Amino acid sequence: MNLIFLGPPGAGKGTVAAELKKTSGLDHLSTGDMLREEMKNETELGKIAKEYIESGKLVPDDLIIDMVKNRLENADAGIMFDGFPRTVAQAEALDKIAHIDAVINLTTTIDVIIERIGGRRICRNCGKVYNVSWYHKDTCEDCGGELYTRADDTEETIRTRYDEYLKKTAPLIDYYRVKGIVHDIDANGDIQTKVDAISDIIKG
Ligand code: AMP
Repeated sequence: MNLIFLGPPGAGKGTVAAELKKTSGLDHLSTGDMLREEMKNETELGKIAKEYIESGKLVPDDLIIDMVKNRLENADAGIMFDGFPRTVAQAEALDKIAHIDAVINLTTTIDVIIERIGGRRICRNCGKVYNVSWYHKDTCEDCGGELYTRADDTEETIRTRYDEYLKKTAPLIDYYRVKGIVHDIDANGDIQTKVDAISDIIKG
């Protein structure tokens, strides 16, 4: 079983995928996390990606498709794709290398996105995601790691990322809708409700 999470930045794709990873047996492939790792290691790809990411633009398709292809060479379980594909070209490339069983389309609005991403804090050590609206400490409750704010989580960059989503990624909803595999899930519900609904879809 391979599944894709679609939805604007801040819809909670990564949080839901991280939660489902604990019970579903599926791997979590986040192209955003992979790119941030490349940036941290100052690789060639990381240096190129940095400019795009920090301005809120999408990284060019050929770089992303190569990165995902390399990662899939070592895949031995089903995958939850988070943040990939983000363009029709990426979806067409993915169709050639993996069968997609379901697409989870997380729906929300720009106001919710700005509030969520604006308050987002992430653990530098384990990647757990928090929000200042409900978590007031500077360290992670699970591992004690330091919490940080992503460089691309400013209001201006969030708006650019949302525009990129509307222009380049939202058309994928119809791309997959005609295949009959899209499941719409309200991203504004509580995490357990979303996880339960998606678990049912995974179980078939
Ligand atoms: P994310 O962590 O998914 O919000 O991604 C953060 C940033 O990484 C995005 O705003 C893009 O600049 C870049 N990125 C992540 N995934 C992709 C992708 N599939 N295609 C192009 N750019 C991507």
